[in-house]
Amino acid sequence: MTAEPRASRFVRPRGDGEARRIRVSFEFFPPKTEEMEKTLWESITRLAPLEPNFVSVTYGAGGSTRERTHSTVKRILAETALAPAAHLTCVAATREEIDTVIRSYCGAGVRHIVALRGDPIGGIDERYAPHPGGYRNAADLVAGIKRLSEVEVSVSAYPEKHPDSPTVEADLDMLAAKVDAGAARAITQFFFENDLYFRYLDRVRARGIDVPVVPGILAVQNFKQTKAFAARCGASVPDWLAERFDGLDDDAATRKLIAAAVAAEQVLDLVDRGVTDFHFYTMNRADLVYAVCHLLGLRPSQAAGNGLGLLPLPGGERVGVRGVG
Ligand SMILES: Cc1cc2nc3c(=O)[nH]c(=O)nc-3n(C[C@H](O)[C@H](O)[C@H](O)COP(=O)(O)OP(=O)(O)OC[C@H]3O[C@@H](n4cnc5c(N)ncnc54)[C@H](O)[C@@H]3O)c2cc1C
Repeated sequence: MTAEPRASRFVRPRGDGEARRIRVSFEFFPPKTEEMEKTLWESITRLAPLEPNFVSVTYGAGGSTRERTHSTVKRILAETALAPAAHLTCVAATREEIDTVIRSYCGAGVRHIVALRGDPIGGIDERYAPHPGGYRNAADLVAGIKRLSEVEVSVSAYPEKHPDSPTVEADLDMLAAKVDAGAARAITQFFFENDLYFRYLDRVRARGIDVPVVPGILAVQNFKQTKAFAARCGASVPDWLAERFDGLDDDAATRKLIAAAVAAEQVLDLVDRGVTDFHFYTMNRADLVYAVCHLLGLRPSQAAGNGLGLLPLPGGERVGVRGVG
């Protein structure tokens, strides 16, 4: 038994184990107001020196943020060294309209698209129906993007099954179809029980899907909101998580400390079990995510050059958890 503090392993290659770098990506949503724009850019400025593998910008339901997604991505390209991934859904639009968006992303210099079906325009209680002249589903969209361009494509994955999906098998069939159409990576919906992720990963690998399945991590900034959001997207919120936030509705400062502790516990356990790539749902806020990345051994800008951010491959690395990019 060693008395070594747990986190020190992440910043120092140990023994003769192969050193491996933690890679992160950050997801943002396009801001609606000037104030939100300011918050977003403060967050991007804070997180950029951690040299994420990529940063992604969401696409509002039914294309409602088409212009804002585009201008946020363009600004990232113009003002930072970050590699932006633009999200795109196929809801309520013809193929021609979607193809125009793909071409304009490519024309602006985007080299990575996160391709999604999206939610029905009337909300998740409505049954999804493809636009009569549109892409049928996310796999069809991936194929469309690949027909038009060379961009890298990432897609979604659901460790707890997508609510529309009748079975886990149907979910895996859709993931397989998206990968067959050319997706290079899946990013998961957020989850709080790591066992759910590993169980899902086993099923993904057993289905013969071999792309990286990067865990999506949500550091809970607002428990009530997270619970409501989780209910809509089919993610479970364990009782232990509710207990941790119990009584803190009016205590933002303690909530934040608890949120950091919960997220740290989750990612460190994932690292212990062989995961090296993380996608953070930032909610356009940097501080919690920055702190968790710090725990993971990432340091501003010199991270790539001086060995920080390297970790040894744990002996029992999970089969198939491999790096992105
Ligand atoms: C990483 C990530 C990023 C996201 N980014 C955005 C974003 O930028 N903008 C946005 O609006 N949403 C976003 N979403 C949410 C996503 O659009 C919704 O979850 C949507 O309901 C499904 O789209 P998908 O591409 O994830 O689903 P898909 O992979 O296409 O489908 C998920 C499951 O639902 C089943 N299914 C699909 N269609 C039907 C149908 N008609 N009938 C029965 N079953 C069906 C499939 O078989 C599959 O099992 C994101 C989700 C994730 C995980």
